[in-house]
Amino acid sequence: MQVPAPFEYERATSVDQAIGLLERLGSSARLVAGGHSLLPMMKLRLANFEYLIDINPLHDQLGYIRVGGDEVRIGALTRHRELLESDELASAFPIFRDAERVIADPVVRNRGTLGGSLCQADPSEDLSAVCTTLDAHCVIRGSRGERVVSMEEFHVGPYETAVGDDEILIEIRVPRRPRSGSAYSKVERRAGDWAVVSAGASVWLGEDGTIADARVGLAAVGPNTTGIPEISETLRGQAPDERVYERAGEIAARSCDPVTDQRGSEEYKRHLADELTRRTLRKAVERARS
Ligand SMILES: Cc1cc2nc3c(=O)[nH]c(=O)nc-3n(C[C@H](O)[C@H](O)[C@H](O)COP(=O)(O)OP(=O)(O)OC[C@H]3O[C@@H](n4cnc5c(N)ncnc54)[C@H](O)[C@@H]3O)c2cc1C
Repeated sequence: MQVPAPFEYERATSVDQAIGLLERLGSSARLVAGGHSLLPMMKLRLANFEYLIDINPLHDQLGYIRVGGDEVRIGALTRHRELLESDELASAFPIFRDAERVIADPVVRNRGTLGGSLCQADPSEDLSAVCTTLDAHCVIRGSRGERVVSMEEFHVGPYETAVGDDEILIEIRVPRRPRSGSAYSKVERRAGDWAVVSAGASVWLGEDGTIADARVGLAAVGPNTTGIPEISETLRGQAPDERVYERAGEIAARSCDPVTDQRGSEEYKRHLADELTRRTLRKAVERARS
């Protein structure tokens, strides 16, 4: 059945009014942003809600990319296309453009949003892996005020986040550090498909050229997109070379938790986690040096 069950539709006029509606309607209501994840689930009757609150009218308030000296702030309603096309964002964090080039197709990218991607919390979501890699923080607003949580706190489980029924994700904050580089790589079965496996890497070099800090985020290889602390610990203080990329790849392959499915065997996915970790680290270091 490709038709959703009947629902009432409300257009949000402000963030506070949307929060008020969520409070009043409780778990029978859901926000709709791009609708590219929620509506297919409703059409398949995997999700049923009595009310949809459309937050697209808030794009003027929540659709922005603000590049500052210490951090980049991105509004939750910023669309994939806007992330793809922003030269300022690509200059600060090239990982966003790398990822957006391989997310879905132009139809999805024209409507789908950063906030919707993170709140969907699909373990294969590319932007979740990007934000995990960059050590981003999420700003969540409710009637009691705002709170800021790390990506680790944000993703509670598959399709489950720290955003309460009466709250809205409003902004993502990404810290900036000097001499940094980032990269993303994905293996997909055909263009625009969900990942077989994806990896992101972010590297910060010290003044002497060694790795001051690094993070790797993987998607589609476990119940959540995951950062891997053991890789960060292993890379810190090391000179960036093939030997350390190889060690990071080995850790990625054994720390992830893929399952065999129509996209590939568990063994193949572990091999990809290894290979993509090495590739993205190599690229991130090249970018940090330039
Ligand atoms: C054909 C197709 C291919 C795709 N391929 C890929 C791919 O390769 N890689 C990839 O990463 N993604 C892919 N996607 C998913 C796409 O990126 C979606 O845009 C994204 O998952 C959800 O964003 P949305 O704005 O459409 O969210 P919606 O569908 O509107 O919402 C998703 C969920 O988030 C909640 N939500 C939305 N915004 C907020 C907010 N601000 N605060 C609180 N809750 C909120 C909604 O209530 C809902 O539960 C694909 C989708 C399709 C249809």
